[in-house]
Amino acid sequence: MANMSYKCLTCGAELFWKADRNAFVCDYCEDSFTLDQLQEAGQTGEVDETKVQKAEELMEGEAAVSTDGTVGNNLVKYSCSHCGAEIITDRSTAATICVYCGNAVIMGEQIINDFAPDFVIPFSVEKKKVMEAFKEFSKKPLTPKSFDCEKVVDKMQGVYIPFWLYSGTCEGDVDAECYNEEKKRKGDYDIIKRDFYAVKRRGKVNFEFIPVDASSKTEDEAMDSIEPYDFKDFKPFNPAYLSGFLAERYDEDQEKCYPRAQERIENTTLDLIKDSCPYDSIHIERYDKDIKLSETKYAMMPAWLLYTTYKDKKYFFAMNGQTGKFVGSLPIDYGKLVVFSALGGILGAVIGFFIGG
Ligand SMILES: [Zn+2]
Ligand SMILES: [Zn+2]
Repeated sequence: MANMSYKCLTCGAELFWKADRNAFVCDYCEDSFTLDQLQEAGQTGEVDETKVQKAEELMEGEAAVSTDGTVGNNLVKYSCSHCGAEIITDRSTAATICVYCGNAVIMGEQIINDFAPDFVIPFSVEKKKVMEAFKEFSKKPLTPKSFDCEKVVDKMQGVYIPFWLYSGTCEGDVDAECYNEEKKRKGDYDIIKRDFYAVKRRGKVNFEFIPVDASSKTEDEAMDSIEPYDFKDFKPFNPAYLSGFLAERYDEDQEKCYPRAQERIENTTLDLIKDSCPYDSIHIERYDKDIKLSETKYAMMPAWLLYTTYKDKKYFFAMNGQTGKFVGSLPIDYGKLVVFSALGGILGAVIGFFIGG
């Protein structure tokens, strides 16, 4: 087995993970199988390290862009195990779809050893649904007429994004000056009475699975804004879930990504401490924190992504592949915008325009 894929137990064709059926489905005979059924039939999905296909380096000047639409510029090549075509892809791609034969190609060497994920959340939002959501989203009053949503939506890709998940404890120790305020009206005067308190608070927070995306290619802010993922759907990682999707392995290690988790943990701890202070005003004078990480897990989470360019500007749309939450921006027809501002609706229109559901 050069690349990895899962075969239909009825006809032997390639199987793909189908979100709407929550199963692996054969496009030819329509049969579907659970992971258990495949494993019982001997398709363990375990990666045989001795047999994984290694990426081949490109010759100088051989290719400037990937054939599979993955972004990045650190390119290597694989050959498709089904049709033999050469697939130029980014070095950190862990799964792709062969553009020539449409079959799933899973890069075994990108999901073993140091790159083996602990968990995966399988896609539960199907492509049809995300395409409809995007079409609905682009029916905005300010979208230029020439922005061809039907054409753009074809570029929508299901991508497994690598995440680090940090767990541990944070001890926070706070000195704060707080007050409660009382307002009274006396004759012609407002009288404000403030009672001041010197407050000390100490608390320990256990945190589990604080996620930080581990790919330099995804926009951190977009990933943050399609969170949260619901960790109840965590499955032990199995490469079978990747078939039919793109997948990125991490290219930023857990140390590099940690500061973003740290910031979230420190802010959350402080917020919880503040919540325990029943005062009208809280002014933090000192905040000491001590984070102890217990373990860091590596997981792949599903996202629908669409990058497009309109009149030389880049636009981005992302949807959480588990919950359907989305963010994005669309081109604006400035001619229409003028009409809108003349109508006085500009503020509401522009804000409503940039922030999706
Ligand atoms: Zn079949
Ligand atoms: Zn192929």
